[in-house]
Amino acid sequence: MEQRKCFVVGGNLLQAHTWKGLLESFGLDVELRGEALLGGVGELPADMQNVELWVPEPQLAEANSQLALLDVQSAKWKCVQCHEINEGSFDLCWQCSAERSETHN
Ligand SMILES: [Zn+2]
Repeated sequence: MEQRKCFVVGGNLLQAHTWKGLLESFGLDVELRGEALLGGVGELPADMQNVELWVPEPQLAEANSQLALLDVQSAKWKCVQCHEINEGSFDLCWQCSAERSETHN
């Protein structure tokens, strides 16, 4: 029985593809879904796309733990524009698409 769970929402298509590739390298069965895939990739700016990653339910815990490991490797950053916390792997704020600032407190 195929029961999938969505475990990542948002981010950009490039990031989603990166995660998908990484998770697949751990043997996870990752499916990419989202608005961006319906309209045709390339018609929308990469940072404007709403992307979801889905895995089979039995693999959800492992997918989350692998992503947590990725988080450790890349420090999170705070958007200077809207103060949202972003994953370190994002170059643009997922909420307002502002560019990542290099300023440190
Ligand atoms: Zn922002």
